[in-house]
Amino acid sequence: MSLSREKEYLISELIRNGYLKTPKVVKAFKIVPREKFVPEKYKKFAYSDQPLPIGYGQTISAPHMVAIMTELLEPKKTDKVLEIGSGSGYQAAILSRLVKFVYTVEFEKGLCEFAEKNLKNAGYRNIKIIRGDGSKGYQKESPYDKIIVTCASEKIFPEWIEQLKTNGIIVAPIGSHWSQTLTVGIKTKTGLQTKEYFNCVFVPLRKNYSDAESIS
Ligand code: SAH
Repeated sequence: MSLSREKEYLISELIRNGYLKTPKVVKAFKIVPREKFVPEKYKKFAYSDQPLPIGYGQTISAPHMVAIMTELLEPKKTDKVLEIGSGSGYQAAILSRLVKFVYTVEFEKGLCEFAEKNLKNAGYRNIKIIRGDGSKGYQKESPYDKIIVTCASEKIFPEWIEQLKTNGIIVAPIGSHWSQTLTVGIKTKTGLQTKEYFNCVFVPLRKNYSDAESIS
């Protein structure tokens, strides 16, 4: 089967399984080429519903997970979004079709460069990659309408809550190194109201990074 037929099939399966729900999110999945966000040798697997290695022990999330998280984030054209964990840049690319601007923080220098290259290659302009420790968020452009965390975190850090607007939404895998619960928080005037969804497994958020610099 050709890549474009595989893509069509994958998207129809994501819809059939209820992961993709909103027409505009479906459209973003149709437009963004996942094959441009994976290393050359994995291109043939770009439209199988699985995470794939992107180097540095990290992975691009499975399409169904990107679909679930994007839908839970309720993206709007006016949103300013913060992503923690740029990885390949794919999740940021999907969001960039749906929101005003995406700031994405990545710990690993090599992956900042990988994401930068992929996003340039696929032609995205409303995304900025920041090298640094995402556990501190990215204060400079805060507050954000939405925050999406794509690495496993032991908790929702206070900086994330502070940098979120009131009524803003945060989606994050919260838990231990090996197993997390996909958690959605809504910031209210009195604090963060959280709702837990289902178990998931993400690569862990790494800490104690202290040389944050912007590369773009
Ligand atoms: N959203 C990505 C997948 C992310 S994988 C995609 O669409 O491809 C998780 C990423 O989080 C990895 O790239 C890892 O390097 C990064 N990461 C881990 N700890 C981090 C931290 N403290 N700050 C920023 N990024 C971090």
